[in-house]
Amino acid sequence: MLLFTNQPSERLTYIANFLFAEVAGINYSIITEIPDDFGDEIILNYSALPLDSIPQMVPHGLLNECEVREIIPEKPEFIGGLPFFFKTSEKAAFPHDIFSAAFYLLSRYEEYLPHKTDKYQRFDEQTAYAIPDVEFQPFQHKKFEFIPTIDIDSFYAHKGKGFWRTAASFFINLKKGNFEVLAEKVQVLLNLKPDPFQTFDLIEALHTDIENLHFFVSVADFGKFDKNISYKNKRFRDKMAALARNYSVGLHPGFESNFNKKILETELHRLSAITNTAISTSRQHYLKLSFPSTYRNLIELGFKTDFTMGWSSALGFRAGTCNKHLFFDLKENKSTRLAVIPFQVMDVSLFEYLKLNREQANERITQIIAQIANVNGIFVSIWHNETFSEFNNSEKNKVYLHTLKLCRHWIKR
Ligand SMILES: [Zn+2]
Repeated sequence: MLLFTNQPSERLTYIANFLFAEVAGINYSIITEIPDDFGDEIILNYSALPLDSIPQMVPHGLLNECEVREIIPEKPEFIGGLPFFFKTSEKAAFPHDIFSAAFYLLSRYEEYLPHKTDKYQRFDEQTAYAIPDVEFQPFQHKKFEFIPTIDIDSFYAHKGKGFWRTAASFFINLKKGNFEVLAEKVQVLLNLKPDPFQTFDLIEALHTDIENLHFFVSVADFGKFDKNISYKNKRFRDKMAALARNYSVGLHPGFESNFNKKILETELHRLSAITNTAISTSRQHYLKLSFPSTYRNLIELGFKTDFTMGWSSALGFRAGTCNKHLFFDLKENKSTRLAVIPFQVMDVSLFEYLKLNREQANERITQIIAQIANVNGIFVSIWHNETFSEFNNSEKNKVYLHTLKLCRHWIKR
């Protein structure tokens, strides 16, 4: 496949590489002159000049710019159920500039523009240029993949918090009249009952036939949004080291690390020392993601893959894709080596933000997984170790069992 352009650019190379090489698995070259004889090679004319008998897509112009400017696309037009925007020519074989549209979504262009933030200073998802997954067809060089991921924000519910945090928690629960919680706390602290957040054996048992189980671990200092026990706790350290021997373990950078790269570096060293491995994957706690600083900091500290790309208060496709892609730094106007693996479903989104019941959650998940399986993409879920507590009585866990069942079905297909 040959892609003709009279204006080659960093952005065009990046998006062509993603669409042709990564998603479609097609060999392609970008050319700036039409060869006299191109045999039976398919050529696409990506320029404003019409060329005899060569299908044309007229560029929007976005891929030839080097700066970020206020661009908000028109509402997508649905053709054959698929969304299209950046319409550039009625007459061309492709009336929309699909390359610019894909670039706009994949680079998260709108997150570089002035935008509203939510109470955690994150990009306000309600204002996002919403578009469903834009993959067009199943690409046979790939297979459906499932990556179950578990965030560990709180290793224990009650234990390991030290005298002052435990005393404060007793006082707060007493004041609120939470006698059930108090009773549980006492039983757990007296070792009469296991700590409810200790669900790791169960999590491992659920995934014995599923590869790719990932854990993201918080080792942040205690703070308003970082509530894990101390990273010095021996049981915590031993368990994390054990998990790292069998599964992929990455860093769950604490809330404060977003404002200070030194803190991120400290946390990285802590987790590497605990697991005795080189940590190269991450997912931001609270999905804190600011462009381009979050990804730049990760790159500078040697991270190779990040799993933060997804919404908190919605399900689905933040970057318009379920495919792995490289982070394109719009401020530098260049592609980087950081791989981004998007997720589509998180427990907190289902049950806290969207307040879905079991049937509603199952229905949405079924829809999303089928959509991904139909294009042989990657489905990534986020669950927390604490969500697995009370396993047998919990509706949430029935939703997780449903998810596993669906994934098993699509993997075997
Ligand atoms: Zn978290």
